[in-house]
Amino acid sequence: MKQEFAVIGLGRFGGAICEELSREGMNVLAVDIDEQRVNAFKNIASHAVIADATDEEALKAIGIQNIDHVIVAIGDNIQASILTTVVLTELGIKRITVKAQNDYHEKILNKIGADVVVHPERDMGRRLAQSLISSNIIDYIELSDEHRIVEVKAGKKLYGKNLKELNIRARYGINVVAIKRGSQMIVSPKAEETIAENDILIIIGSNDDITRFEKHYIFE
Ligand code: ATP
Repeated sequence: MKQEFAVIGLGRFGGAICEELSREGMNVLAVDIDEQRVNAFKNIASHAVIADATDEEALKAIGIQNIDHVIVAIGDNIQASILTTVVLTELGIKRITVKAQNDYHEKILNKIGADVVVHPERDMGRRLAQSLISSNIIDYIELSDEHRIVEVKAGKKLYGKNLKELNIRARYGINVVAIKRGSQMIVSPKAEETIAENDILIIIGSNDDITRFEKHYIFE
């Protein structure tokens, strides 16, 4: 079933979300205060409308209450982003995702009821830094300030060893939740699973525990 989305703010970030959702066949209402930006999305989104998202009446007039998930991608104008989020919360939107410009903005958005706050520049910078530390780190997702999921290439020291003898959970307090082996994905690998060359491990745990594990087994 098609889901209903609205993207408010059609800059590079909001525009990319709008394009991708539309490409995936979703119903997207594209909203911006700037006429030119709106015109650029007329042939991409299901509907593209000019509105000042800080104006509750304007949002009501475009039927925002009927939308399940609203993404606020107003970056530079922090005041407008906050006001828009407040209005959307008051209108009872089920799911609100907002792009934050800095940590202070992020804190406020969390306090006023944004369901998800994204911080793409910071997160991308961190990811890049992680991948610069070691070519073995493929990706990571922050779950909280303390925990993450990482995708790492198995280091040489792991080849030919099974999870039982490595005893990673007891020694490092982390869990190997999946192993990618070529096109195969071994989810919740058994203790007897032996790690092979070119395996990619998906690990969950605290930042400190993962770092200890990586230093020993992943970085070369
Ligand atoms: P980025 O490229 O990082 O996504 P940007 O610099 O292109 O951002 P921003 O200034 O962060 O753009 O704003 C994103 C969009 O939000 C712009 O197209 C702007 O016109 C729109 N916008 C700003 N204020 C409002 C508002 N009150 N209501 C609706 N749209 C707004």
